[in-house]
Amino acid sequence: MTDSNELNTKVQQTLKTIADPETGRPLKNQIHAVAADDDSISVEVGLTSFAAPIRDKFKSDIETALTKAFPDVGSINVTVTDHDRPAQPIGQVGITAKAVIAVAAGKGGVGKSTAAVSMAIALKRAGCKVGILDADVYGPSVPQLTGVRGQVAKEGNKIVPLDFDGIPLMSIGFLVPPGEAVIWRGPMLHSTITTFLRDVAWGDLDYLIIDMPPGTGDIALSLSQMLPLTGAVIVCTPQEVALIDAIKAVGMFRKVKIPVLGLIENMSSFVCPDNGKEYDIFGKGGAKKYAGQDKIPFLGEIPINIQLRERGDAGEMAANFEDKNVAPYLEAIAKTLCQQLADSAAANPPQAQLPVLG
Ligand code: ADP
Repeated sequence: MTDSNELNTKVQQTLKTIADPETGRPLKNQIHAVAADDDSISVEVGLTSFAAPIRDKFKSDIETALTKAFPDVGSINVTVTDHDRPAQPIGQVGITAKAVIAVAAGKGGVGKSTAAVSMAIALKRAGCKVGILDADVYGPSVPQLTGVRGQVAKEGNKIVPLDFDGIPLMSIGFLVPPGEAVIWRGPMLHSTITTFLRDVAWGDLDYLIIDMPPGTGDIALSLSQMLPLTGAVIVCTPQEVALIDAIKAVGMFRKVKIPVLGLIENMSSFVCPDNGKEYDIFGKGGAKKYAGQDKIPFLGEIPINIQLRERGDAGEMAANFEDKNVAPYLEAIAKTLCQQLADSAAANPPQAQLPVLG
């Protein structure tokens, strides 16, 4: 019979070979309980809400590691519970978020805002704390897509964001009447974005998703000066002409030293509701191929779907997650993004990845 203290220590050592998906550091304080004897091992390990989308993978990684380390133990039980680790203030503006992700596109109309809002909903549904900042000054469509409208209020010296089913939301669209064009010069854009980041009561966030204006690098530059952006997600459609613009967007982010976290191919195929046949209206797989060539992670695809467009127009994007023809694609993107961040945290110490400016 193995000494149970010795066994316990060995189990702890095995758990420490696994990285926390959020920080990339070996599990330590997150090991909440270990009970081990010759017949069974039971562990309880905590996971932060940041990594909630990849909870299943985390659990199975622990099971695999324990099974490999203790092949003779008959029963291995892994329980994943919640581990609380609040976000720290980052950047000059001091927003408390663990990841700030810019969703961008080379040009308008490719579904950038749709992808940004969908990603936020998917992360929130998985259990993450998410905020959305609509910084698309030229066409703020997040109020339309979410159905959230209204006046922002002030509480003390902070602006209270509007609420989208538990997701704090701020949009340039809340400041200008719908249909009115925004004609702002660089400094004004810069100060508005600063206000949105510094003066809004975002609370403790895992992810701040920023819907960027298409093309231009102005806002990207402003943002990158104010806070350490975790990176950019580029949305594009599959046809050649759209890809050329997406490649330009990738180049722009690289120039201002913002990591490109991945590519999403939107409108990648269309399943005809009349006959169930699949048509590749804009072609298919172009973005995936380019991502592979340029070593950019491919986060996933979203098919052309009539209901998806209708729900966007109606401000009912959350309903996409009840639709089996759409939901798996959106959930897969959030999962892949989260896994991508976990992989890069494991590969680089987080301090190096998220320098605190100022
Ligand atoms: P962008 O932010 O790139 O300008 P939007 O997200 O506002 O684009 O999308 C433009 C239009 O295309 C919206 O009406 C939206 O509902 C629609 N749309 C986006 N993605 C899809 C899709 N996969 N299937 C059907 N319609 C889509």
